[in-house]
Order: sequence, then C-alpha cells, then structure tokens
Amino acid sequence: MSKTQYRNFVGGQFVATDRCFDDINPSTGQAYAQVHEASAELVDQAADAAHKALKGEWGNSRPEQRAALLDRIADGIDRRFDEFLAAEVNDTGKPAALASSLDVPRGAANFRAFASMIRTAGGEVFETPTPDGSIALNYTMRRPLGTVGIISPWNLPLLLFSWKVAPALACGNVVIAKPSEETPGTATLLAEVIAEAGAPDGVFNLVHGFGPGSAGEAIVKSSKVNGITFTGESGTGATIMRQAAEGVRPVSFELGGKNAALVFADCDFEETVAGVARSTFLNTGQVCLCTERVYVQRPIYEKFVAALAEAARKLRIGDPWAQGTDMGPLISKGHRQKVLDYMALAKQEGAEVVTGGGIPAVAEELGGWFIEPTVWTGLAQNSRCMQEEVFGPVCNVFPFDTEEEAVALANDSKYGLACAIWTSNLKRGHRLAAQIEVGLVWLNTWFLRDLRTPFGGAKLSGLGREGGHHSLDFYSELKNVCVKL
Ligand code: NAD
Repeated sequence: MSKTQYRNFVGGQFVATDRCFDDINPSTGQAYAQVHEASAELVDQAADAAHKALKGEWGNSRPEQRAALLDRIADGIDRRFDEFLAAEVNDTGKPAALASSLDVPRGAANFRAFASMIRTAGGEVFETPTPDGSIALNYTMRRPLGTVGIISPWNLPLLLFSWKVAPALACGNVVIAKPSEETPGTATLLAEVIAEAGAPDGVFNLVHGFGPGSAGEAIVKSSKVNGITFTGESGTGATIMRQAAEGVRPVSFELGGKNAALVFADCDFEETVAGVARSTFLNTGQVCLCTERVYVQRPIYEKFVAALAEAARKLRIGDPWAQGTDMGPLISKGHRQKVLDYMALAKQEGAEVVTGGGIPAVAEELGGWFIEPTVWTGLAQNSRCMQEEVFGPVCNVFPFDTEEEAVALANDSKYGLACAIWTSNLKRGHRLAAQIEVGLVWLNTWFLRDLRTPFGGAKLSGLGREGGHHSLDFYSELKNVCVKL
C-alpha cells in the first residue's frame, strides 16, 4: 500500500518536493507516511505568496469577515474529526481517548475562541488636554504585524499549532507555518480545511521540514518574515532569538519547563494523588506543563510516595487505539534514548527507583517507543535530574517541612513555566501563588485552561504571553492616532 503523502501548501497549492523523509508511527516504530521537505527556495516562494495575499483583499478584510472564516475552519475540523484523530494518533502514538478529548477538540476551540475575541476586541481612547486649552483625542488602531512565522513542536501538535495560527489569522496576518518534523499530519489536514473554508491563496502557507539547515531556519532567516512565534525547547528559542535580532523582529516564545508540584499535608489526599499522577504521566509526560518535581510535606511523604507509585503501576500502557489505554509511547526512538539516559543518570545520582525505570514488555510486542512511568525518590535538589527537563513520564518526590522551604525549592530552577499547589488552605494557596516564579499557577488542579487568560513562562520558560488579548497584541501592530480637536 502506498504511504500517505504530507505535502507543503504554498500560495493555495499543495506542493510536492523531491526531498522526502519518513513519518514514523511511534507506537509501531513503522513509517506510515512520507513528508515532503520544503527547500529554502520554497519557503521564499511562500513568503512571496504571503506578501501578495497581504496586499490583496485579505489585507483589507474586516474582523467580522476573519471571525467568520475562523468559525468555518473550526466547523471543518469538527466535520473531519475522525481524519484529524487518526493523523494525530498515527503521528504521536498518544491514546485515541486523549487525542479525541483534548487535542482535536482544542484545535477547533482555538479557532472559535479567537473568532469570538476578534469580534469583540476594542481599542484604547484618551482625551488629552493640549497647551492651548483645547483637547486632543488619542485612539488606537489594530493593524496586522504582516507575515508571521509559526514554528511548533510535536507533543500536542494540532493544539499548539492552531493556538498560534488562529490568532495570527484573526488579526489579519498572513502566515508561514512549520509543524514539527515528527508530527506533520494534522497541520497538513488543517491546510486543506483552511482552503475549504475559503481563505484566499497565500494567507496560510505550510512548509515541512526540520530546524537547522531546513525549513525552520529558512523561515527564521527570511527577511520577508515580520515576526516569529515559536513553541519548543529553550535552547532552540535562544538560537531563533539571535536570528530574529537581524531585522529587530518581535518574537513570542513558549519554551521548556521543569515544573514543581507542592503537596501540603492538609490536601485532599485522593484527589491530589490522582492530580499529580495526571500531571506527571499525561501524554507520557510530554506536556511542557508536566510535573517532574514533586515536593511533599513530611507528615504524608511516605504515604504519598506509595500512593503515587501505585497510581503509576495502574496505568495501562499500549496500543493507542485499544480501549482503556492510558499511556502511549514516547515520540521517537531518539527521545526514548534520551529519557533512558536520564533514568541511568538518576541512579548514578543516587535515586531510588520506587517504580518503573525501564522499557515495558509491550514495547517488544508492538515495536514502539514505550517506556515505564517512573517515580524516583532520593535525588538531591541540585542533581541534574532535578534541574534538567526530561520530558518523559518521570518525577522525583522530595520531602519538605515548611511553606518557606517549599517556595524556595519550587523556585530553585532556571525554568519558570508552571506550578501546581495542592492544599485545602486556600489562604496559603494564594500566598504561595504570589511567590512562585512561574507564568502559570494551578491551585488544586492542573492544566485547566481558559483561552482568554495569559499563557507563558518566566525565566528560561518563555518570552511574552499568548492567550486572550495578549495574543491579539502580539499578532497586531498597534497604532496610535492623535487628533487635535
Ligand atoms: P524543538 O525546539 O526541538 O523543536 C520545536 C520546533 O522548532 C520544531 O518544529 C523544529 O523543527 C523547530 N526547530 C528546531 N531547531 C530550529 C532552528 N534552529 N530554527 C528554526 N526552527 C527550529 O522542541 P521539541 O522537541 O519539538 O518540543 C519539546 C520542547 O517544547 C520541550 O522543551 C517542551 O517543554 C517545549 N514545549 C513548550 C511549551 C510551552 O507552551 N511552553 C509547549 C509545548 C512544548
């Protein structure tokens, strides 16, 4: 059977190239599709097509027209839900139950949310006294940034890709977007849906490929790209930032994390164990928001370690399409090796492996890059496994005594993305929320999102915020008009 072909989408046309690479299904280890890598020349053609679209009818479109387009895109995702689901599961190996409740619905929700936001977005108005005793009126106008380069990772492919495409289009921009080389499927389907929804040619361009020396670098280096929005590793962000400095172009970065959970003795024990198990193991630990450091107050420490390990052992690992599967594989053979290397390092650094730590039998049976959910204890705060992002289903559980100690431990990280606090003392929860150096705090929950709220990280975890009006601000050029009355 011939393999699925994932082509580029440039100027309203699907474009094949003669440089193809395999798209591997991580739950079987087998190639199921071929991806057409875009050359620097094709990225340049995409930039020209985008520019032409910006100068055409799209450049004069009204927010209401764009909102209607976004709603039609969301409807298109809903209509082709099963195709999106299959592409996402084949690309990532994540359980179909997860992709059908999180990734695909959030893809559609991102378009609906930004349609609604751009319909109701207002501006600022100030009445300003003038020296001659008269008055001036200042008001703002929102104009597109221009051609936006979008580069996204593989862990939540459709969710993170659409999180940037939707506001970029809502604000009237034209886009050149590159999904991760590991997960090109849903982005390619989205290109079809955007075309079916009636976006003019060149408004949305999709290019496939890798980072350095490939399509990613070509987007970032193109002087025809006016702003770059990126989600991925902090190191990649730093590289992109250096290149974006050429031309002083704005960047928005959502980067890595080494997130803490703070568990107090007065928490609702069962709810907290379930919550921390979810925050550690969801999507095989491959969510930027996942917990890798669990700090537990001493009176419940032993009991908590045992309960978390028990929750990990109960997770059913295997075929993403099988009913009841909780955990799929890691994204690739290379990434699994990276996580296995951290597992070996953890032992060298003095970890006690409470559960997990290896490859489950199902990996042999199915051929995929499966790994066991793993709980460590005994790692020192300054060990590499407590300081570096593993991006797998692993955590170290560490005891603390006082609130002050908990804050100091949580903040002892070069990252600052998210923290979950588990306590029934809400006053304490609020007090701590103010002190933790992160962009996102969850109190007695985790990964509960309202798309109008600011999303992003402190320290090495990011630059800027997206979500709600923060997205509209990044994807717009705000213009102030001053009128003397
Ligand atoms: P990555 O940085 O390796 O790659 C991300 C994307 O950037 C890919 O599309 C890749 O092809 C491209 N890329 C790589 N090098 C590039 C370069 N020099 N120029 C241009 N493009 C380049 O990240 P990944 O492994 O795909 O994703 C995992 C990372 O993403 C983790 O660190 C995770 O924490 C982070 N992440 C952060 C968030 C967030 O919202 N903060 C969300 C999801 C993932």
